[in-house]
Order: sequence, then structure tokens, then C-alpha cells
Amino acid sequence: MKDLKEEEFFEDMGDGHIPSHFDTPLRADAFDMSEDEKIEKIKGDFYNIMHTLGLDMDDDSLKGTPSRVAKMFVKEIFGGLNPGRKPRMSTFDNKYKYNQMLVEKDIIVYSTCEHHFLPIVGRAHIGYISNGRVIGLSKMNRIVEYYAKRPQVQERLTMQIVKSMQEALGTEDVACVIDAKHLCVNSRGIKDIESSTVTAELGGHFKTDPTTRAEFLKYIDMNTRFNV
Ligand SMILES: [Zn+2]
Repeated sequence: MKDLKEEEFFEDMGDGHIPSHFDTPLRADAFDMSEDEKIEKIKGDFYNIMHTLGLDMDDDSLKGTPSRVAKMFVKEIFGGLNPGRKPRMSTFDNKYKYNQMLVEKDIIVYSTCEHHFLPIVGRAHIGYISNGRVIGLSKMNRIVEYYAKRPQVQERLTMQIVKSMQEALGTEDVACVIDAKHLCVNSRGIKDIESSTVTAELGGHFKTDPTTRAEFLKYIDMNTRFNV
């Protein structure tokens, strides 16, 4: 009985998307297996899920699915679990002494909810104030992509992006806002197709100085999309 209660507790916690902590919960032996070994194992595991659901695994349309899903999990949508895939965060001297705010907005986010294994789709906006170092613009897209390719919780994704940018740039003055739709909310359960979730992680002056924060939020709000 106690076990059932505990199971229900954690099911409810996940359904409410309550994060436990802010590092991706990985075991110490997470990378003992090679990617190819993981693909082989997941192929069998996913075959069993489909088989248990009653699907005819000899059907030509379904035969290839376990191996396709296994490759997609390991190399694509959960590829960011592997620290070997972290993009190099090289920074450069800020030669022009541009020490104002730089905002990279509307970075497309494709991630996966760790509670339901359904997609999270949205946009990330990142701002920073250089203290002498700058980072290539596309690196910000890559860092979002890297952390998004994990089973995720939106709050954690937002924090991981900010933390890695702070480390690379050597400044606390980094902020990130993510606005995303969770398909586990939009397509099942409560089936609210309109709602989206906004998370913000504000570091340094973005947190302590209301003017800096307001400036950042104003840029995010500006309609800068090209209508082509
Ligand atoms: Zn979910």
C-alpha cells in the first residue's frame, strides 16, 4: 500500500511538471555503454513496448520502427545527454568595446518533457552584457539545442543555458526567457492547445537592476520577425 501511494505521489509530481533539481539527473554509469550498444538495447526495449501494445511487429510498416526510434533517441532528440556533444564555447575579445546588452531572440527550441516524453516546442531569448569577452551568435543557438536535446523540464533548461553562458563569458550578466508549448498539456490530459509556459532565469544585473531587466524584456517584445 505504501508503495502504491509513493508511486501515485511521483506520478502526480511529474504530471504537475514539478522539477526535482537543476542538474539533469544522470547516473554515474550513464556512459559505460557506447552509443551503438545503447541503440541495440533500446531497439529491443522499444520492440517490446510496441509488442505489448498488441501491434503486429511483422507488419512492413512497423518493422523498422524500433531501430528508427532507438537511433533517434540516442543520436538526435536525447543526444544532448552526452557531454561529448557539448558545443565548444569559445569566446573572443570584445575589440569594439561594445559593452551594451546583446540579445539573441527567437531561438527555436525543440525539447522533450521528461515527465511524459512528449515534445516541448517554443522560443528562447538570451541576453548578456559583455565584460570584455563576446561569444559567436550561432553558439547561443547551439547551446540551446544541446541542452534541449535531453529529457527536460523547462525551468532546468532555462537555468542550464544561463549557467553555461555565464561560465563561458565570465560574467553573471546573462538572462534567458523561454516561451514554449508542452504537447503533454496541449494534446492530452487537459488538452489546452492555447496555453504556453514562460520561464525566466535572470543573472547579475538582469536580476538586480530593474532598468536592465526592462530593457531586455522590451527587446524580446519588439516585433523583429521578417515577413518574407
Ligand atoms: Zn509533460
